[in-house]
Order: sequence, then C-alpha cells, then structure tokens
Amino acid sequence: MNGEDLRILKKNVYGLNKRGDEHSTSELVCIPCRQGCLVENDDTPIRCGLHVSIAGKIDRAVDRAVARSCDTFQIFTRNPRSWRSRRLRRDDATEFRRKVRLTGMTPIFAHLPYLANLSSPNKTIHRRSVRALIQELDRCKALDISYIVVHLGSHLGKGRKLGIERVTEAINTALDSSESRATILLENTAGTGNSIGSSFRDLQEIIDRVCKSRVAVCFDTCHAFAYGYDLRDLRSVEATVSQLENSLGLNLIALVHANDSKGELASRIDRHEHIGLGYIGEEGFRAILHTEALRRLPIILETPIDMPGADEANLRRIREFAM
Ligand SMILES: [Zn+2]
Ligand SMILES: [Zn+2]
Repeated sequence: MNGEDLRILKKNVYGLNKRGDEHSTSELVCIPCRQGCLVENDDTPIRCGLHVSIAGKIDRAVDRAVARSCDTFQIFTRNPRSWRSRRLRRDDATEFRRKVRLTGMTPIFAHLPYLANLSSPNKTIHRRSVRALIQELDRCKALDISYIVVHLGSHLGKGRKLGIERVTEAINTALDSSESRATILLENTAGTGNSIGSSFRDLQEIIDRVCKSRVAVCFDTCHAFAYGYDLRDLRSVEATVSQLENSLGLNLIALVHANDSKGELASRIDRHEHIGLGYIGEEGFRAILHTEALRRLPIILETPIDMPGADEANLRRIREFAM
C-alpha cells in the first residue's frame, strides 16, 4: 500500500483508567481508501457500538463499551426477561452519568424489555407493558439517556388494525405519564407471527397518530431483510432506502441496528448473524455503510456472542466495510 492509498485521520481515543478517572489521548489511524467509494465524503468516521451488559452495576456497561472501543452503546437498564425490576439507586445513576460524560459517547440508547407487548389485546398484559414503558422512560431521565428503542409487539391474531390502535394508545399514555424527554424509537420487526411494525407502512401509521417530536425510528437491517426489504447489494439498498424515504422520511430514522441475518430474504425469521456472514453478506453491508442516509447515523450491533471476541470482530468488520 503506498502513501496515496492512505488517509490519515486523527482520532480521539477516550478511556477510563481503573479508578474510573478520565484520560484522553490522540492517535493516528491510517484508513485505506477503497477505490470506487460510494459516498462523496467518506472521511466522516462512522459512530458504532454494541449492546452491552449491565451485569454487576449499571455503570459497568460504560466500562464494557470503552473496553470494546465503542463510539456509542445500547443497554437494557434492567433484567429484560422479568416484569419486576430493581429500583435504580440514585448513586448508581450518578456514577453511570459521570462515566458516560467522561467518555464523550453521545447519544446512547436503552432498549425496552422483551416481555412488554404494546400491541397486546389482553388488557392486563397491555397495562403492564405501558407501565414498563413509563418506568423505562423515567430510568432514561435518571440516566440521561435520550433514546429508548421499543419493539411494537404482536396483536396475537386479533388483527393489524387493533394492534396499531393498542400501540398508539400505549405510546401516547406513556409520553403523557413520564417527565422524561427521551425519544421513543420504534424498531421495525421481522414480521414473525402477528407482529406489528414490520412494514414501513405500519411505522408510518403509528407515527401519524402520536406526538411526532417525541417519536422516531430504529432501522434494524436483519429485521428489514427478513421481512422482505432487500439489502444484498447497492441497488437493493438504494431501493430500500428510497422506500424508507417515501414512507417515513429519512429524518425520522435516528438509529441503525446493524445485524446480518440467519434467515433468507422474506423468511420472516428473526435470527441475527455475524456481520458479513449471513444472507445480507459482506457486499450488502459495504453498500449499507456507504449509503450516506444510513452511514451518518449511530450504529448499534446486536450480533451473536457465541465465541470469545465475537463483539470485537463484528465491530472491526463494520469499520472495515465502512472504509
Ligand atoms: Zn434490533
Ligand atoms: Zn432481532
């Protein structure tokens, strides 16, 4: 590789030492320039990170994100598989906020627990789900997290119309009941079973009925592909992005969940694969990462952790494909 093939980028590297104090250094990073780059300004570094665990204490999530050299991260602020949650201690929230501030990682993201079903026709489950969303918005306020990602759930066979009404009601009630200013990000789903929110049309219908300044969209690549939006090469990525633009408008997309897919196109199977190793594949991710509308957004990986170093390897691949 000769000098002309390289671009030198000064990158600030933030970190925390063992006592949790700040240190910040600069290092030079050489970025090989791939010929035929598809964006005009591909100097802009992407901002990518991982879903990290809060095991131990919630501020340990920040340490984990730093150790894996994330630019941003996503957490469950509590156990995602239980309706009951431990109260968030004020000291723990303060420590979490302090560490995030030191790293300079912004924005960061929370994810609503899996049990919540905002589309549920069952009154008890729906009420619990709305309560979980309100609690999560309150925790975002305490932790200074600006975005909460939500899955829209399933109408359990009672019909799309009812499901959309239930979600809309849930979101409006939660926004009215919390003092948090966090934005709710509706995540597109894979279309498994009776799920709501797999088509851009579903998302648009919901957004039309809620407070628009408080709601935006998280675009999950695995879910979109599994539902039937092709992402395997530049042409298909452009077609999918233009559908996003026509139905929702690109300004509404606030986050990309970058996951490859274990299921084929339109399989409706929600199983995430390592970046470049699934049916979206390396060509698909290179195209996604060279499409300005997606590249400029924060990117979170929710890829499998089935071997040591899997997270780091997926992040490395994302950064490499973005060059
Ligand atoms: Zn996702
Ligand atoms: Zn998924």
